[in-house]
Amino acid sequence: MKFDDYSINPAIKKALDKLDFKKPTDIQFKAIPPILKGEDVLAIAQTGTGKTAAFAIPVLHKLHERKQYAREDGIKCLVMVPTRELAIQITEVFQTLGKHTRVKTFSVFGGVEQGPQIAKLEDGIDILVATPGRMFDLVSQGYIRLERVEILILDEADHMLDLGFIRDIRDLMKFLPRKRQTLFFSATINEHIKDLAYSLVSKPIRIQVSPKDPVAKNVDHSVAYVGMDDKRFFLERVVQENAGSKILVFVRTKVRAERVHEAMKRVGIVTETLHGDKDQKERLTSLNRFKKGDVKVLVATDVSSRGIDIPSVEYVVNYDLPEVPENYVHRVGRTGRGTHKGKSVSFCSPEEKPILDEIEKFLGKPIKVLEIAKDDYSATIDFSSEAKPDVMALMREHEAKLDSMKKAPKVSNANKKKKKK
Ligand code: ADP
Ligand code: MG
Repeated sequence: MKFDDYSINPAIKKALDKLDFKKPTDIQFKAIPPILKGEDVLAIAQTGTGKTAAFAIPVLHKLHERKQYAREDGIKCLVMVPTRELAIQITEVFQTLGKHTRVKTFSVFGGVEQGPQIAKLEDGIDILVATPGRMFDLVSQGYIRLERVEILILDEADHMLDLGFIRDIRDLMKFLPRKRQTLFFSATINEHIKDLAYSLVSKPIRIQVSPKDPVAKNVDHSVAYVGMDDKRFFLERVVQENAGSKILVFVRTKVRAERVHEAMKRVGIVTETLHGDKDQKERLTSLNRFKKGDVKVLVATDVSSRGIDIPSVEYVVNYDLPEVPENYVHRVGRTGRGTHKGKSVSFCSPEEKPILDEIEKFLGKPIKVLEIAKDDYSATIDFSSEAKPDVMALMREHEAKLDSMKKAPKVSNANKKKKKK
């Protein structure tokens, strides 16, 4: 079935056409009809299979059809997401698909000034995409009213219902009308979270696409046994062997992200970092530079493991294994999106073996092992530019040092202060 055959408003079809979306993906095919009917839906489908449009298309259709007859005020659909980057991305999808409709979508998230967000809210919007923190601030100050909300969507639902967010979500429910449609979307879910989701809604329709393997079929993923201290040499090798490809590297902590950045710099590889210690502007700048391809390697923590859609990421490297097993699925799912294929490798050190066991238990099967012959292993280290520092690199380092000595200390202090906020 093609989108042409759907009874969705032509305004939305026009946008789908422009995006070159001809056929619905599996999850879209299954989720759009019940959402149009007003059912509650719990939808589980692998990463990169088009879950955003699966809820955006029917919601835009419903709101647009109504708006053709009467202008109603107030937020009618609320989409809750875990990160600011995801709030921005999902807002863009609604705005692109809703370009020819009268439906207005806007997002609020923390880390930036409140003023401009409030001004925009006062213009009147139909769909609000939000992270919980900033939204509650604005609700409690009376800038956001939720009594007209008819549709509540939790994207990355298992994460939104997990420990960090569940209290916020329960509090949120108090502000929403009892009679409403609730939609949960995620790539992963466990029994506990499923029960919790069911307790929040009445008789949801459950849609599950390819439940046996939570890793998307477009991702070719494997694990390589690498000593903790050797990881940087192997990352260097992956980058060299995939020159020109966009590579997303996940590390365990913010400190490690900066360390990997430095280690790569020493061997002449430019990387950007993305983690929670950066302010919002810096986070967006890093992400955009990577999106545009100005920098080919992005080193990130789990803040960007969920939902982020950068279509041409060819390689995901788990420099460190994720401590939460389902994050493995989300991380490797940053590649192989839509119709694209992707590759992923995880570096597992001996001390991380128990984490690998947990991940494999979660996946329900072992991860393919990338065998590295002994000679090959030592060659990777020997051939590193770090092992044989070239004269040019040494000179560059020396120049950089001189440069930083020339700079007035005041400047660097001011920078530090700014970074903290
Ligand atoms: P998910 O939320 O399932 O991880 P997204 O909604 O972010 O996935 O979509 C993944 C990619 O697939 C996006 O780049 C999106 O533009 C593309 N996509 C979504 N639906 C379709 C479709 N029907 N046809 C072609 N591409 C699509
Ligand atoms: Mg998504």
